[in-house]
Amino acid sequence: LLSLRGVNKHFGALHVLADVDLDVAKGEVVVVIGPSGSGKSTLCRTINRLETIGSGSITLDGSELPSEGRELAALRADVGMVFQSFNLFAHKTVLENVTLGPVKVRKAAKAAAEQRSFQLLERVGVAAQAHKYPAQLSGGQQQRVAIARALAMDPKVLLFDEPTSALDPEMVNEVLDVMTALAREGMTMVVVTHEMGFARRAADRVVFMADGRIVEEARPDHFFSAPKSERARDFLSKIL
Ligand code: ATP
Ligand code: MG
Repeated sequence: LLSLRGVNKHFGALHVLADVDLDVAKGEVVVVIGPSGSGKSTLCRTINRLETIGSGSITLDGSELPSEGRELAALRADVGMVFQSFNLFAHKTVLENVTLGPVKVRKAAKAAAEQRSFQLLERVGVAAQAHKYPAQLSGGQQQRVAIARALAMDPKVLLFDEPTSALDPEMVNEVLDVMTALAREGMTMVVVTHEMGFARRAADRVVFMADGRIVEEARPDHFFSAPKSERARDFLSKIL
């Protein structure tokens, strides 16, 4: 479904992504881990073209990702993104946050979009908050709204960049539970996270990055019990 080939990116002299090849099949859940600064966020941002790439190709459903114009808006709709910092519109209600994309970008009828948004809010367990503003919600609730908002666009793939890192510890699981349920329902997901429990439970594949390269890829049970590279062993010894 999603395919990166020989992707390179520099920030000045810094080689942030170095010959990255990555394939994500439909329904697959790929968890990306690695030390700070290894290029995980940049990888996510290049996939939905928040960042340009220097060379290589990124294709979704076989077509090259556009870098500008109307096609770019369509692409962004197909590639959902959930950030560490929720990024909800503060002056819009929860329901408006979720309904906005389908109405503006997908040209959905407002009533139908609202009904669907309610269903999605129910699915992530925050329907009771539909008419509140983001600031009135806990961090965990806001992040679940952000997930509902991404789902409302019917994305082909959902990217998560450390979705639980900004949350108080007691709210981490409510977000991970929603993500685990999505994974089980067959959503195609690329998840950058430090939550190794989630990786073990939900990932089909773990991708380990260091210095802008994919150093190792493996099934989670293999990766966590017998990492092949020195870099991965070193990383795991620090976080587990
Ligand atoms: P973390 O775990 O801390 O989130 P990361 O793996 O997500 O790290 P990136 O955010 O992708 O890492 O950053 C990779 C490298 O690129 C880092 O050295 C970072 O300082 C650098 N970098 C990221 N964005 C920019 C930018 N806009 N301009 C210059 N350098 C950048
Ligand atoms: Mg990051």
